[in-house]
Amino acid sequence: MEFDFWWLLVPPLFFAFGWLAARIDIKQLINESKRLPSAYYKGLNFLLNDQEDQAIDVFVEIIKLNPDSVELNFALGSMFRRKGEIDRAILIHQKLLQRNDIAAELRLDAQYELALDYLKSGLLDRAEDGLKALQGGRYARKASGHLLDIYQQEKQWEKAIAVANTLSDANYSFQHEVAQFYCELALRDIANSQPDAARSHLEQALATHRKCARANIMLGEIDAAAGHYESAIVIWQRIEGQDPQYLSLVGTKILDAFRRLERPADGVQLLKSYLSTYPTLDLLDLIHQAVLEQEGEQVALEYVYSVLRANPSMLGLKTLADAESLLAPVERRKDLEVIRSLINENTRKLSMYHCTACGFRAKQYYWHCPGCSGWETYNPKLGAESV
Ligand SMILES: [Zn+2]
Repeated sequence: MEFDFWWLLVPPLFFAFGWLAARIDIKQLINESKRLPSAYYKGLNFLLNDQEDQAIDVFVEIIKLNPDSVELNFALGSMFRRKGEIDRAILIHQKLLQRNDIAAELRLDAQYELALDYLKSGLLDRAEDGLKALQGGRYARKASGHLLDIYQQEKQWEKAIAVANTLSDANYSFQHEVAQFYCELALRDIANSQPDAARSHLEQALATHRKCARANIMLGEIDAAAGHYESAIVIWQRIEGQDPQYLSLVGTKILDAFRRLERPADGVQLLKSYLSTYPTLDLLDLIHQAVLEQEGEQVALEYVYSVLRANPSMLGLKTLADAESLLAPVERRKDLEVIRSLINENTRKLSMYHCTACGFRAKQYYWHCPGCSGWETYNPKLGAESV
């Protein structure tokens, strides 16, 4: 096999070209930097040191020397917006948008920046118009992302569904969010006394995301409200196959439905079977209360002990102290009260729902986090503990 020795020249040649290109770049950079006023570096220095106010003052002075500089105008516009001086940012971006002496691509940049200004100032109608006008171009996806935020803020769920569907791709399907938007529509239907429309939206939620436990919780609630307790229970039982964590959110509803059917013991039995497989504090508390009503204090206390022996935890200890104090003689109740308040103090944080995305804690369960606006980010189990 013959070997062409000239191939040996290729690596050094590549190296030489690379070196030359780097030299040209550096030379160009030095030439450009010589043309820049010293104030520019001053402004840059303020920016790098997070002294935005001083940086803005310097750049305002520089732009007076060169008012037509597109780059400087964009930079200043962004700085004004970040600082909350939205009116000034809007003025700069509007002027850029109206300029005929700059490339169409730059006007498109200005249009996007202007939409962001409106968004930050809360002028959502104007932001929406600006973002819609960007559809079809290179800002289409970013603009759609912002439109989705706007529609969620304005609770325009139909529009949110349409935009989320256009954003859906192989990387992210938006099925969680779209299913929740259908649930929000169903919530509105229920408030307007339209249970059939609500059912239809909830079916769409399940068709979009078959594990949407909220849809089944709501479907069961609609049936229970109409007095169809048997079918409500059947629907709520489906949650076990979707995501058993959410069973703790329907425990009270299941017990109530069985009570209405005059089969309270069956309700307790069902919850006990759930608790043995998916232990949560909510279910333990609920069962303790139900057993207390149906079978008395002694049986209730023994049940709590049996659960805690299998799954010891601080949160379960609180239920145990509750159960113990009911049976304790009067002279011991004071001591038990001290123990209970100590446990309460130490488990207060854990006895709240928390968002797994931002950590926001709340007494009530949220499907849409008030802290970070995430959907289904709340853990349906109290605290992070099992029983
Ligand atoms: Zn959150």
